[in-house]
Amino acid sequence: MLELSTPIKFVKLVGERVAVELAKRGVETIEDLLYHLPFRYEDRLNPVPMSALQAGTMASVIGEVRGTVLLQTRSMPLFEMTVGQGLSTVKCMWFRGTYLRDKFHVGQMVALYGKLEPSRSSAGKFKMIQPQFEVLPSGTGADAEFSMLEVGRIVPVYESLGGTTAWGAKLGSKWLRRVIWALFEELEKQQLSKSADQQVEVIETLPGAMRARLLFPERLKALKSVHFPEAGTPMTELMSATTSGHRRLIFEELFYLELGLELKRRRMREREGTAFVTNVKVREAIKQVLPFHPTSAQKRVLGEIASDMRKPQPMRRLLQGDVGSGKTIVAMQAALVAIENGYQTALMAPTEILATQHYLSARKLLGDVLSPRTGKPYRVTLLTGSLDEATKREARGRIFRGETDLAIGTHALIEDKVDFDNLGLVIVDEQHRFGVQQRFKLMKKPGALDPDVLVMTATPIPRTLALTLYGDLDASVIDELPPGRTPIVTRRTTEERAEDVWGFVRKQVEAGRQAYIVYPVIEGARDDQPELDFPQDTESDETAASVKAQVDSPAALRNDTKKKSAGKATKGAKTGGAKAKGTKSSVRTEKLFEPKKALRAATDMYEELRMGRLAGLRLGLLHGRMSADDKEVTMRRFQRGDIDVLIATTVIEVGVDVPNASVMVIEHAERFGMAQMHQLRGRVGRGAAKSFCILMTGGRVSDQAEARLDAMVRTQNGFELAELDLQQRGPGEFFGTRQAGLPEFRVANLIRDRALLELAKAEASRFASEPDPAVSREEKDAVWTRLKLQWQRKYGLVEA
Ligand code: ADP
Ligand code: MG
Repeated sequence: MLELSTPIKFVKLVGERVAVELAKRGVETIEDLLYHLPFRYEDRLNPVPMSALQAGTMASVIGEVRGTVLLQTRSMPLFEMTVGQGLSTVKCMWFRGTYLRDKFHVGQMVALYGKLEPSRSSAGKFKMIQPQFEVLPSGTGADAEFSMLEVGRIVPVYESLGGTTAWGAKLGSKWLRRVIWALFEELEKQQLSKSADQQVEVIETLPGAMRARLLFPERLKALKSVHFPEAGTPMTELMSATTSGHRRLIFEELFYLELGLELKRRRMREREGTAFVTNVKVREAIKQVLPFHPTSAQKRVLGEIASDMRKPQPMRRLLQGDVGSGKTIVAMQAALVAIENGYQTALMAPTEILATQHYLSARKLLGDVLSPRTGKPYRVTLLTGSLDEATKREARGRIFRGETDLAIGTHALIEDKVDFDNLGLVIVDEQHRFGVQQRFKLMKKPGALDPDVLVMTATPIPRTLALTLYGDLDASVIDELPPGRTPIVTRRTTEERAEDVWGFVRKQVEAGRQAYIVYPVIEGARDDQPELDFPQDTESDETAASVKAQVDSPAALRNDTKKKSAGKATKGAKTGGAKAKGTKSSVRTEKLFEPKKALRAATDMYEELRMGRLAGLRLGLLHGRMSADDKEVTMRRFQRGDIDVLIATTVIEVGVDVPNASVMVIEHAERFGMAQMHQLRGRVGRGAAKSFCILMTGGRVSDQAEARLDAMVRTQNGFELAELDLQQRGPGEFFGTRQAGLPEFRVANLIRDRALLELAKAEASRFASEPDPAVSREEKDAVWTRLKLQWQRKYGLVEA
């Protein structure tokens, strides 16, 4: 009997050998195969007639091969094929297409998919460059049995799983259709011969009552309809994954994620924590350290935190607040609640610079006052990885013996060697820089009672991500900036205008202000350096342009060799970045063979500016390869105003607070991610002075980069920027490559499926809280079993 967990090798048409190939792509069981869903569909039942095609669109076309020819151009072989339908024809071209010569024969029916380009030679005609194709079955021969999978229906198109069958056929769409079709036939036969509760065990994962309420089909039916849609299913729904089958599968996946998070949250509420009191004395302690009137958002958020802290359950709260919204002081207030109750607080920051900054400001804030409870000063200890061993040992000792009220540090604080005397509160600053795993680890810090945990982030997290990554936390938002801030003026410019920018920086410094100038890399023309934590946009638009350039005219093909040598010459030229002007073809030359341009880098520009345009000003240099001591010294000098202009990499990105700094120049802004730029801009505009952010580009600006820069100029709203960022980069990259633990989805797409995510969350909470009489015991058990499986396998988030 087949079950979803049955190894794939037992599936018809697969076998041992292919199973090994499939395993390489993560397809090991029947369930894995069934969840390898089509990524698009072709309507071969009602294909769009060629006469109705439109240039510029992606189109799926069925026609008859009318003729083929292999052209030998000077640079490469070019395979051309004409496909016709009545009087209309489309011309297809493949570069280096020699291998296609024996594939096509006149009279064959083929299905093509690709972008339709207007033909240059004859108006009203089209061409397709390198389209995807399938030769359709002729209705006789070995393929006849499966011909109904290829024609006369809506046909699923799959991503290839790589590898080949024993006889050398690709494990592509055609193969997958057959295997999956045969598999469904078998599963359906099996379903028919079984009783209802057996079926629940094998296939279904959502209770019938829930399915009925939400109008979702059964699981097997949903899968079948997604793989082999019935005639009449609207193509738009298929392509946007909004058929009821799709929706059910997406919902199911999100439901189990949310259910897991819901359980985590519930389990946490059952654990025992500390119930802090917030009496007059505690309030007094807080009041006496406040350097300013808190904003109403700060007050509200502190209220939410304090109310959590009063409860006997451990607090698990996420505090979001845009850069500069004043999270630090809220954190300090929370710390005081714990401390005034006789407990220790740990404050963790992602970098040494930040930890040190927090330490210094905590000392400043708490330095002159006495605790109303003890009548003594507060004891603050710094513990970071770079301190020497003796100092660290001593710090750990003070923490362990309870001679510290507030321990501030980097992740050295959660290393196993650190034991607290009685830790009551853990605060994690800039949480997104730590992975989810680290967060879980931190929350499990041993002790008699669970400490309260407050995590803070200045990266506005789009709601979908917050729901998936932080669904186990309660959330607070500081949605208001402290008073007296003037909006930061953001401008775009290019490297060519650098002189003006340096002039402006000089003027600002002369007016008593300070400035940052940020570079994507530390030195030289290398971009493999750790500071650049943003992956480059794909260069696909450029390749497309070059292919187009080659195709547009035969002349382009003939010129090819000439261009290559021109490219070489440019590459050899010392200046780099040749600025080709003039004729059309030289523009093309530049596009095709633009040498990799040297990036302006922090160390080089530090030297250049110090000797050149910023001579006479006090310049500082800060980057990730400096020792922690050097970094700290530099940062402090900048903070004290002993440095006018800080030339840096993104090490300053997060959290650094120097209110007198009013200018942020970002060079190669096209290379930075949205969140990074937003964070960098947040380093200025923190005082009363009018502040400026200058985004300088130097190099090719991709469409995506263009959109980022536009958005930066247009708005300062972090949440708006975050949404665009999420759309551009996808959830996996949203937090940068350092983020670990974002769940992987098989069907769901966090950008597309927000509404279903909300629904899943509501349903998960309902399922976990209300015993529904309409849901049978077996169905419930099936849900719990499924939950365990999905969490273990897909999210790896199961705690030991
Ligand atoms: P972030 O939320 O980015 O961590 P900070 O806590 O560093 O922001 O605060 C940014 C700046 O605003 C700091 O200089 C801080 O002293 C100041 N600040 C915070 N809250 C207020 C307030 N209510 N009134 C005036 N200044 C404030
Ligand atoms: Mg901060």
